[in-house]
Amino acid sequence: MTVTYGQWTNNAYTSSTDSIGVMNKFTDEVIAEVGVASKADFDSMVDSAENVSASPLPPYKRFEILKKASELLKEKQHEFAEVIAKEVGKSITEATGEAGRSSLTLEVSAEEAKRISGEVVPVESAPGSESRQAFTIKEPVGVIGAITPFNVPLNLVCHKVGPAIASGNAVILKPAEVTPLSALKLAEVFKEAGLPDGWLHVITGKGKDIGTWMTESERIQMITFTGSPGVGLWLKQHAGHKKVSLELGNNSAVVVHQDADIETAAQQVAQKSFNNAGQVCISVQRVYVQNDVKQAFLEKLKVETEKLVTGDPMDKNTDVGPVIGKDALQRVSDWVKEAVDQGADVLTGNKIEGNIFLPTVLVDPPQEAKVCREEVFGPVVSVIGYQSEGEVIGLVNDSKYGLQAGLFTNDLTFMMKAAKEIKVGGLIVNDTSGYRVDHMPYGGLKESGEGKEGPKYAMQDMMNERLIVLQGS
Ligand code: NAD
Repeated sequence: MTVTYGQWTNNAYTSSTDSIGVMNKFTDEVIAEVGVASKADFDSMVDSAENVSASPLPPYKRFEILKKASELLKEKQHEFAEVIAKEVGKSITEATGEAGRSSLTLEVSAEEAKRISGEVVPVESAPGSESRQAFTIKEPVGVIGAITPFNVPLNLVCHKVGPAIASGNAVILKPAEVTPLSALKLAEVFKEAGLPDGWLHVITGKGKDIGTWMTESERIQMITFTGSPGVGLWLKQHAGHKKVSLELGNNSAVVVHQDADIETAAQQVAQKSFNNAGQVCISVQRVYVQNDVKQAFLEKLKVETEKLVTGDPMDKNTDVGPVIGKDALQRVSDWVKEAVDQGADVLTGNKIEGNIFLPTVLVDPPQEAKVCREEVFGPVVSVIGYQSEGEVIGLVNDSKYGLQAGLFTNDLTFMMKAAKEIKVGGLIVNDTSGYRVDHMPYGGLKESGEGKEGPKYAMQDMMNERLIVLQGS
């Protein structure tokens, strides 16, 4: 029997009159029905969140709740992994990894709850202020609206909810329509961990409606969004005076220099181009390989790519499952066709099997092709040759995005030049753009967004800093 979920508010489900079916992305079966929120549902969540946020939980309490939630999540890692694998279509191995990382994200958030501090401001160094002393304190912003994408439906939710709770805020979370189940299950874990009513609400339904209500509400102080650049820009333009934090897309580049360990580079590129069927914001999309080693790299990459097992995400041997839906399948296929029409060669892949687009390597598409210029968000990587260091830095930077990039080289001088000149939020040396651990600062430049994730960094945006100046008599 299909389970029907209502809205999650005040630690319980309400009933909804209208619902959206959530599908298993490999089989197309409906696995659950999730409620479509009304404006009245939203307003009552804001009432509740605003009400509790007037008296923030003390930091030690936030620590205890987040730590407990992290432990419970770890205990339920395999249950969560099944939900993720079905609702996203990523392999059960990757989904298990995501659930494990989510537990760590909450643990790090718990630790950060105890480290909130301001600074001493030496006002007495200014003439006339000799008898004054000053310091800053940090306060939660109040109520945060958090909106998350489909591709990492649990850990990216933890990256919003963990820091928001750690910094003392109430949260109204809107997970992606197509993958809301892990977020709802996480809310149940927070209840079990002792989070009192009012601090976490999960609103499900139509993105545009909920985004409009959030941007229009004067009782929401911040919107934190992870998703596509178009929606992010829309939110920013409509958010008025609210704080906005945006984690958006990328068309990540990786450079393989002539001195690189070609075998390792090819293995890493194959893994990070095709995990979660390429639906990762730091998936490897453009690989620039020095001309002297390009042929050797392509031979290894072909072997590594063809080793990947495609199929049912629930099978523990599967590496690559389906893309998120038929529209995505068609778009990825159209973009590959366009690149081929523009002169690219297909090294391997470019075939549809059920909802799966086979891992595809293109060689030498023009820099103007969509597979280079836009974010593919599918299992397609393009390999392009370069001659000089200056040329390749220009190619990497020739993008409207700037989230992360990778560089394989042992040449210290090139590494240092790249570190200075590649315009991204993070440069990963001797690994791909796809490297991330959850406590590191993570966020992009240009159309990849603004603000940082990683609990410590996200929390800076989720608090206001107030200056206190004291004067003795
Ligand atoms: P999306 O923008 O379509 O949806 C993201 C969320 O926004 C969903 O919850 C959706 O329901 C909601 N939404 C849609 N329209 C809205 C509106 N008008 N107002 C408010 N909310 C609205 O993105 P997606 O397809 O779910 O995810 C893929 C995108 O997310 C890619 O661009 C990817 O790069 C990006 N992403 C970025 C990061 C990062 O950390 N930088 C991480 C993961 C994914």
